[in-house]
Amino acid sequence: MELATENLKLDKSRVFFNLKELQQHHAGLAQQLQTATPFVFQVPETTEEAMTVLAATPSIQFSFAALAVTLCARLALGPLGVTDLGILIGTKMFWEIQEWIVHTELFHGSKDMTSIGPFESHDRHHILPYYHVSTEPLPLAVGFYLLAATIAVAAMSFGAPAAQAMTWLGSYTASGIGYMLLHFLAHTRLSCP
Ligand SMILES: [Zn+2]
Ligand SMILES: [Zn+2]
Repeated sequence: MELATENLKLDKSRVFFNLKELQQHHAGLAQQLQTATPFVFQVPETTEEAMTVLAATPSIQFSFAALAVTLCARLALGPLGVTDLGILIGTKMFWEIQEWIVHTELFHGSKDMTSIGPFESHDRHHILPYYHVSTEPLPLAVGFYLLAATIAVAAMSFGAPAAQAMTWLGSYTASGIGYMLLHFLAHTRLSCP
C-alpha cells in the first residue's frame, strides 16, 4: 500500500510506539494503516513467534539459501583458513560503514531528514508505530546479493582467487542476514537475553 505523501510530513519530534498512540495523534493515518495488509502491528513477543515470522519471510528464506549455496561453493574450493577470517572481519566492517552511509546520506539525506531518491519507503518506516513487523522486501535482499556477486566476479576477473571471492560473497550475505535479524528483533517486544 502506498501512503499519501502528505502523511510523511508528520511531527518528527516524537516516536509513536503503537497503533493506539498513533490513532490519538493522527487518526487518518492510523485508519489507513489498519486497513493496509503489508503492515502487521501484532509483533512477536516470544522467540518461537519471532522464528515463525522469520521462517515465513521471503527475503530471509532467500538470504539463507544464498548463504548455503555460497558456503558450499567456497568449501568446494578448499578448506577455510586465516585469510577467510580476515575477509570475514573486513567485510563485516565494510557492511557497517555501508549501512551508516546509506542510512545518513540516502535514507535521511534531505534537508528535513527525509529520504532522497527512491527510498521513500524508509520515511514510511519511521512514521509507523515503533512496534511493527519490520522485514525487508525480497527484491532488496536479491539486489544486495547480486551486487556482492558482481563485485566477486569482477575481483576474480582482476586475478583474485575464487575461494577468497566466495568468502567475500558469503561474508557479505551473512552480514545482510545479521542486519535483517537485528532490525526485525529491535521492532518486536522481545527483550535482550
Ligand atoms: Zn532511518
Ligand atoms: Zn527501524
